[in-house]
Amino acid sequence: MTSSDWNPCDGTTIGSSDRHQRDPDAEDGLCAACRATMAAADAAAPRSWVLFCERTKDGKLEHFYPAVRVVEMCGGKLEDIVRVRLEPAEDGDLWGWRYSHHPVNTTYRGQVSMIYSREMLVEMCFPYGTAAEKKRGRGEIVRLKAEILGPAKKNEAIGG
Ligand SMILES: [Zn+2]
Repeated sequence: MTSSDWNPCDGTTIGSSDRHQRDPDAEDGLCAACRATMAAADAAAPRSWVLFCERTKDGKLEHFYPAVRVVEMCGGKLEDIVRVRLEPAEDGDLWGWRYSHHPVNTTYRGQVSMIYSREMLVEMCFPYGTAAEKKRGRGEIVRLKAEILGPAKKNEAIGG
């Protein structure tokens, strides 16, 4: 095998002895075993997410983050910040990006991010568009509905 044949799987841990190759021409950069692991994790992952966001004076929800502090950094005042549960919904008025369990997504695996009131705004987060990212197995656009759970408390964070 020449060095040009060496095409490591994206599931290979850098510096690990567990080095293996991706499938030839694999668009997701994975081997079959890592792809199966990703698919199983995606299938088992919860399809609802709790985050914080700002509720504007006209009732719009924006700046979704897992920590109140970050919503405040986007200009939200604590009294306008609420805890919400997001769930996929065909008639939802929000769109976001759901990270797959692809190894390159690291700590974002299974999370939703880039949540906006228009699908095009999610699209614009990706220089080559979401279709290219989806093809690479990195995630997908999800249409979401938000349920307000209650007011946020100072310095609250999900999982922390
Ligand atoms: Zn692999």
